Amino acid sequence: MIYACDNCHFLFSYTVEPEQCPDCGKYAIRPADEAERQEYEKRLKEPREI
Ligand SMILES: [Zn+2]
Repeated sequence: MIYACDNCHFLFSYTVEPEQCPDCGKYAIRPADEAERQEYEKRLKEPREI
């Protein structure tokens, strides 16, 4: 299950629904929508550079 943070727009995957954003710590978590899920999966496949 993929979640998004409304505060910082961080996308992350959790097996249980998280209470806090692991990035900014806000309680602004919601399930990611379809476009966000695709963005997340695309990001996983791309090599990390810079
Ligand atoms: Zn956040």
